[in-house]
Amino acid sequence: MKDILVTGGSGQVGKALQEILPYAYYLSSSECDLTDERQTSVLFNEIKPKIVIHLAARVGGIIDNMNNQHEYLLDNLKINNNVIDNCHKHKINRFISILSTCIFPDKMEESCYPMKEEDMFNGRPTETNFGYALAKRTLSYLIDSHNAKFGTKWQYLTPCNLFGEHDKIGSHSHFISGMIEKIVKAENGKDKKITLFGDGSPYRQFVYAKDLAVLIKKCIFEDISESFNVAPIENFTIKEMAEKTLKAIGSDLNIEWDTTKPNGQLRKDVSNEKMTSLFPHFKFTPYEQAIVSTYNSFKTRING
Ligand code: NAP
Repeated sequence: MKDILVTGGSGQVGKALQEILPYAYYLSSSECDLTDERQTSVLFNEIKPKIVIHLAARVGGIIDNMNNQHEYLLDNLKINNNVIDNCHKHKINRFISILSTCIFPDKMEESCYPMKEEDMFNGRPTETNFGYALAKRTLSYLIDSHNAKFGTKWQYLTPCNLFGEHDKIGSHSHFISGMIEKIVKAENGKDKKITLFGDGSPYRQFVYAKDLAVLIKKCIFEDISESFNVAPIENFTIKEMAEKTLKAIGSDLNIEWDTTKPNGQLRKDVSNEKMTSLFPHFKFTPYEQAIVSTYNSFKTRING
């Protein structure tokens, strides 16, 4: 299976995929900087993949995105263009990439929620990750237009917020990993509270990175090449998610909300109707089970 190339193989989704698809070629940025045209071309000439799973992206939390819009747009455009260009040159027929539900319109009519796949271009993405979103939307069109012209089976999966054992720790982290890190550090110190961004009112859907990895593998082995959203039906507020998390891990810490920090998009829930029709027997890991495993892994990573 070394004819499967996985870009972003050192990221959280890449590591989750490696656990269930060990024989693919897992790439990290230290081996090949995909923003570099020459390095990307050399890599494809060496690996000669038949299937490409494109996970690599400049990914980060809300503050880093807001402060570096230009770099998020440019780096992701370069990465995607170089990968797509080489997939075209090497006549790759099977290509799977990952978008994100944060690239959907910032605000829609109430009746449009949960948003369907075809709603992606029906409004501006949120300002907080505008650059990242434009690069991902462009990727979707590069894929659709390639299929239309060349008859390839290229696809993108569009997951909601991800979390899991391998998520980043530190300033580029996302909501769940940032919160888990704060919980572990509070437990290590004397603080009986954690401070979270915003007021906790925005709604979010979350998927365990391992579940996304399972769906990617299923797409290849069950020959599913349609593009679809990946999200659970549930859409809880950030406050509810924080409370569920503390309860699941048996923590009695209090939560303080820092309303001087941004809330992010109010809601961005997407429909999983298409995913359910393609994989009627697929079940997401229960949140409580996934978050306990994530918390235990973070505790080991932080405390050694
Ligand atoms: P991640 O943990 O941040 O990993 C990003 C991966 O991209 C890493 O393997 C990184 O390599 C690689 N990468 C970044 N810049 C690169 C470059 N210039 N050249 C080569 N490789 C580069 O991200 P993730 O959470 O696994 O995300 C996987 C995919 O899901 C991404 O496309 C992301 O946009 C999408 N997504 C993520 C979320 C989320 O909540 N995390 C939600 C929806 C969609 P190194 O680590 O070796 O530098």
